[in-house]
Amino acid sequence: MSFEPASPAAPTPSDTGRFDFRVAARYAGMESSPLKDIFALAARPDLISFAGGIPDPDLFELDDVRDCYDWVLTHCGHRALQYGVSEGEVELREQAARRLSRDLVTTPDQIRVTSGSQEGLFVAAEAMLEPGDVVLVESPTYLAAVQVFAVHGARMVGVETDDGGVLPDALEAAIRTHHPKFVYLIPTFQNPTGRTMDLARRRAVADVLERTATPLVEDDPYGELRFTGDAHPPIASFGAMSAQTLLMKSMSKLMSPGVRIGWIRTEGAILDTLAVAKAAISMQSSVVDQLTVARYLETKDLDAHVAHVCAVYRERRDAMATAIAAVLPAAAHVTRPEGGMFLWASLGPAYDAQAMLADAVAAGVAYLPGWSFFAEDADHSTMRLSYVTHSPAVIADGIDRLGHVIAAHG
Ligand code: PMP
Repeated sequence: MSFEPASPAAPTPSDTGRFDFRVAARYAGMESSPLKDIFALAARPDLISFAGGIPDPDLFELDDVRDCYDWVLTHCGHRALQYGVSEGEVELREQAARRLSRDLVTTPDQIRVTSGSQEGLFVAAEAMLEPGDVVLVESPTYLAAVQVFAVHGARMVGVETDDGGVLPDALEAAIRTHHPKFVYLIPTFQNPTGRTMDLARRRAVADVLERTATPLVEDDPYGELRFTGDAHPPIASFGAMSAQTLLMKSMSKLMSPGVRIGWIRTEGAILDTLAVAKAAISMQSSVVDQLTVARYLETKDLDAHVAHVCAVYRERRDAMATAIAAVLPAAAHVTRPEGGMFLWASLGPAYDAQAMLADAVAAGVAYLPGWSFFAEDADHSTMRLSYVTHSPAVIADGIDRLGHVIAAHG
């Protein structure tokens, strides 16, 4: 008697006649992502796009980076083109530890290299989240982090914020109600609002997290892009928080997003789990890129480069802040960040920024509607505007176009 294997549930040809894969339920409805859409918009030459947080490529230090790639390929070419270790190459972990130690004493073995902070978030989620876990996030927060936590089955609960960041009392109440797996915060020049928590707020948040023994994922890709005011140390540097925090850093906004290099700093047994998760996801980050970034950090003056980038961005922030103040309705509110990449505008209840976007694009300007940054209770009158990509003159032109659209919707 021959045995016929049961035929698997047959995938059906779709309406288009192409094969339909049955995607995981957690990805259903995510065929497009707001981030993919942003990059598509940014590529249109006729459009002044304030939608993406895309550094100005004219600011990249091409010669310095080329120099470092040359050096790496000349002096350690065979190693650079070989597999590496999941923890990250030691030269890069040394440089990362040296830089981080300005704020928080760090040794190379406390660093796990990732392919940008986006992968850092995925590695952290992979290492910690079970389906059904709660993650507490600022309301609003970075939408691509929410997406990473969501595909790991987490339920996001938004915590109330004001212009100084997350409210410590609201955070404590949410922790006691929801028992989150971790809290996700962007304390400096937050995406999307540009807001920064001051020292007192950081201390209060650290106190809540310590008292309730709640882990923190502290995402800090923008902290070094400070134009004015005093820098604040990461929450990870307060008391026992150094062992309770995964601190995420990235070279994307400082050197280049294309090299895809960042790192996580933490302590204790979670370091091993992070390395295992990283190995499962991608074995290791590109060795040639890691060694090149290490060489760059060792031999080039990143601080001088960042100071130059900040001077340029500051001028652009001023251009956008001035232009937008002139076109916003009287009841609107807009942030004026001391650094980072974004302004956040709330137009007021009469406006729907998503509905307005088609008219804005038709008028030749784009922004990111704010609703997608809220885990719950979205404010549809909000928009995120990045000021880093264009010159002050182009910014003024774009905001002028936007002003006409806002006026028509008022
Ligand atoms: N976190 C935040 C808050 C971000 O804004 C971004 C980039 N927009 C990332 C993480 C990911 O950055 P990357 O992977 O380029 O380091």
